[in-house]
Amino acid sequence: MQRTLILGGGIGGIVASTVLKKIMGQDMQVTVVDRKPDYHYPGAYPLLMVGERSPESISRPLTRLSRKNIEFICDEIIRLDFENNRVFTAKHILPYDYLVIALGVEYRTEFVPGFDDYALNAYEFEDVIKINRRIQDLNSGRIVLFISSLPFKCPPAPYEMMFMLDAFFRKRGIRNKVELVMATPEPSPEPLAGPKVGQSVRRMLAERNIELITEAKVLAVEKDALILGHGMVIKGDIFIGVAPHWTPRVVRSTMLVDGNGFVKVNPSILETGLSNVYAIGDVTAIKLPVMEAYAPKAGIFAHYQGEVVARNIAYLAKGLTPKFRYAGKGACIMHTGFGRARYSTVHYFAKPKPFITLLRPSRISYLAKIAFEKFWLNCWV
Ligand SMILES: Cc1cc2nc3c(=O)[nH]c(=O)nc-3n(C[C@H](O)[C@H](O)[C@H](O)COP(=O)(O)OP(=O)(O)OC[C@H]3O[C@@H](n4cnc5c(N)ncnc54)[C@H](O)[C@@H]3O)c2cc1C
Repeated sequence: MQRTLILGGGIGGIVASTVLKKIMGQDMQVTVVDRKPDYHYPGAYPLLMVGERSPESISRPLTRLSRKNIEFICDEIIRLDFENNRVFTAKHILPYDYLVIALGVEYRTEFVPGFDDYALNAYEFEDVIKINRRIQDLNSGRIVLFISSLPFKCPPAPYEMMFMLDAFFRKRGIRNKVELVMATPEPSPEPLAGPKVGQSVRRMLAERNIELITEAKVLAVEKDALILGHGMVIKGDIFIGVAPHWTPRVVRSTMLVDGNGFVKVNPSILETGLSNVYAIGDVTAIKLPVMEAYAPKAGIFAHYQGEVVARNIAYLAKGLTPKFRYAGKGACIMHTGFGRARYSTVHYFAKPKPFITLLRPSRISYLAKIAFEKFWLNCWV
């Protein structure tokens, strides 16, 4: 029997393994490897932050994949041996016929001096739980959310978190005592989406009395201040950071990566330079066709890429010519609080520039976001 090894049990890895197993059944052994025993749904972190979700409600053990006859190995992946078609983990040597790299990105808080001591990572499950505890106890003060560097995944997520924090303190009746400040290296919110979307987000931040500092170069975090370039010092009581993103060391050490450590792939079939090795999701170096920027990194794209790769591997395994192509299209919904959300459509391969829209906050978009969360957590893992 042929074996497909899927490295990473996040969004891309879960989708690729599920689709492939569904098509191939007994004819393909599908194995997922991840260092973490549990999957946490990141799309709900903004809700977890403000206590609208419990940690348990957005987590699932990856052993649940066995219900679909997918093998799950919880282990650290330490070396990829392409020459001999095998992967070394801390405890195993795993052979493969097809390999899918879905290892996402890691967070390197140590790149920002003081981050580990004085800030919490907005993108890390355990830290989001801590942020929730801190804001429950806060009765007045200043919260500073900063984005350490570019690129960072899910570009709307930090703004979404600010809107949720605003709603949280308004509901508690103490918004007039809590200042909210956001610092980003971006020239404007969501710059790939163009000036119209940027202005719309800026307007909404202003309406909600959230201060925005753009083109911020984060130098350090101190006990009571965020230090930016040009001698700018932002005082605060709670510091929430989007930590610098970095691809896992195990892929950085291969010849598959670009100068920034992301895996180079053919953007329509996600194949790396090696014919039986694919990469999907945040770890890839997919670029926009018209700007020198990486394409936005988000779960919806990892999801579609996982489907394309799974279907094409199934074709190859059956001796057929793979025919599925990734289109760079998707949708994204941003919570804005008070039971509303903003819906975005994205086509990032569009020319002459990426096509990204952002609708006004609405109840229907909120319900769609909640429905998608439930669907993901109940149907995929
Ligand atoms: C706060 C927040 C909100 C978001 N909201 C949305 C949203 O609303 N919509 C959306 O589309 N996207 C959203 N995203 C982005 C989305 O979560 C990511 O783009 C998506 O998870 C990427 O999927 P992936 O499979 O590439 O990587 P991941 O889901 O990150 O999975 C990678 C896996 O690889 C494992 N791994 C890495 N290295 C090793 C190793 N050496 N050994 C073993 N295991 C390893 C990790 O443990 C991890 O489980 C959000 C992200 C955050 C942080």
